[in-house]
Amino acid sequence: MAAACIFCKIIKGEIPSMKLFESEKVFAFLDINPLSYGHALVIPKYHGAKLHDIPDDQLTEILPVAKKIAQAIGAGDYNILQNNGRIAHQVVDHVHFHMIPKPNEQEGLG
Ligand code: 5GP
Ligand code: ZN
Repeated sequence: MAAACIFCKIIKGEIPSMKLFESEKVFAFLDINPLSYGHALVIPKYHGAKLHDIPDDQLTEILPVAKKIAQAIGAGDYNILQNNGRIAHQVVDHVHFHMIPKPNEQEGLG
């Protein structure tokens, strides 16, 4: 945990979030500025800024959780994105995986 990190504060409940899932190693919640309906963030509880800062054993649940959320939301098409560093568009320095549904525009969702 890093005292000044907003995602560590979300994990601890010091900043409110729309929590979707929590386990010993993983926390998942809705993005505050969603790119589409159901845009979720899946994060390791272990604090690290970039993917290579996180031990392998803290990453094992991330994709299974992202997959379950996509299924639960009913996202047929979706992107999993993970940014590392400013040039790669990372804004929050706590590793996070975006699960971004790509709705069928003809259905008017998102
Ligand atoms: P990045 O560009 O670092 O990959 O994405 C950071 C994401 O975190 C953005 O999509 C942004 O909307 C989201 N975010 C930033 N602050 C908060 C917050 O306080 N609560 C929630 N739920 N999402 C946040
Ligand atoms: Zn953190």
